[in-house]
Amino acid sequence: MKRSDLINPTMPNRLNVYFAGCRACASDAIINDIGFVAVERKTEDGRRHLGFELWVGGSLGAHPMLGFKLKEFLSPPDALAACQAIFAIHTKFGNRNKAKSRLKYLIEQWGREEFIEMFEKVFLEKQNLPENREVPLPSLADPGRRPPLWKRIGNRLNPVSIPNTPGILPQRQPGYVRLTVAVPLGELRAEQLRAVSRVARRHGNGIVHFTKDQNLALHWIPIRKIGRAVQALKAAGLSLKGKESGPALLACPGTEFCTLAVTNSQGAARDLLRFRPEAPEKAALFQSISIHLSGCPNSCAKHQVADIGLAGTMTPVGELRRFSYQLFLGGQVEGGIRLGAMVRKGITEEMVVPTVDALLGIVATDRLAGESFQETVLRLGADQVASLLEKEIGPLAPELSDAITMIPDLIEAR
Ligand code: SF4
Repeated sequence: MKRSDLINPTMPNRLNVYFAGCRACASDAIINDIGFVAVERKTEDGRRHLGFELWVGGSLGAHPMLGFKLKEFLSPPDALAACQAIFAIHTKFGNRNKAKSRLKYLIEQWGREEFIEMFEKVFLEKQNLPENREVPLPSLADPGRRPPLWKRIGNRLNPVSIPNTPGILPQRQPGYVRLTVAVPLGELRAEQLRAVSRVARRHGNGIVHFTKDQNLALHWIPIRKIGRAVQALKAAGLSLKGKESGPALLACPGTEFCTLAVTNSQGAARDLLRFRPEAPEKAALFQSISIHLSGCPNSCAKHQVADIGLAGTMTPVGELRRFSYQLFLGGQVEGGIRLGAMVRKGITEEMVVPTVDALLGIVATDRLAGESFQETVLRLGADQVASLLEKEIGPLAPELSDAITMIPDLIEAR
């Protein structure tokens, strides 16, 4: 029996574990229950040691909390003992009430100091387990994932410049790139998936990676084969993630599949995929932003860390309740976490596209030279943007009854 078969059914709720290979991807460590960020430490004798920072207690959802740094440095074999310690604490002391069962609530209840004290005690126990003294070091270079040496040498000896195109990222190994394939809404038809797997087998290392933003990544593509790989993807109706692939849209399953969903987030996201702003400046802005849509406040699409975030809820309109969204602005994950502010409730499903259009118009009108959508929103401030937005979309909004409430049963149900 696997260790996870024993641990998973006993935990009060899941623990999301995130690994970042360097600082560039470190932000997500702060919004996951457990986050490891690879770091390098030099000892006094000048020797380099590779290991991890350990972050703990982050999670978005209806009550977003950011994690904190639990350990400055863990050697790779200690990462397993640290995880075991957190699992053990979560299982023994975590709240069994579903609405409060994520690790962040235990940390909130205890306070960081008490959590750290408990962690250090249990961590020491786990470190000293006989099986943990012999944890093998993770392999830094799995030979099964690399092209054969003769191919790598050939690519290195015949350098070709890498096209400066979004969606193409140089690998640290000379001569090779990573291609990011845009997958709108994370949906691929079976024949497209076959086409991607053919490209991975013929031009890459035969492995297709799923990215955290619902796209695909192909590694070990020789620079000289980029053109052929892109052509093959194009023939299957796919393109590289870039300017032409539209905004960075992320949508959870919503009412299409999820039992907890309030709104059809996939449907709203499809409306946005079809949306083509008329003014060139708005169109250019639209290509540059991130829009995340969650079908309920649980935030599986991480609506609090997007340029524009939408979270499904219900709005009382007269005697009825209308499916609608709360609107968040100013969030980001790349380059440092910032949680967006909720600036308006009651964005009904028909208002989603006009709201995005109006926001593009506000930013296009008020931005300073060189400012991004995000920078303009932050400079103007959430209140100012909300009041400008109201002038544009207010007339489209249905008349609301007294209170606009979220659905309490759904909060943190995941
Ligand atoms: S955000 Fe809500 S609707 Fe979307 S997948 Fe998560 S629980 Fe389901």
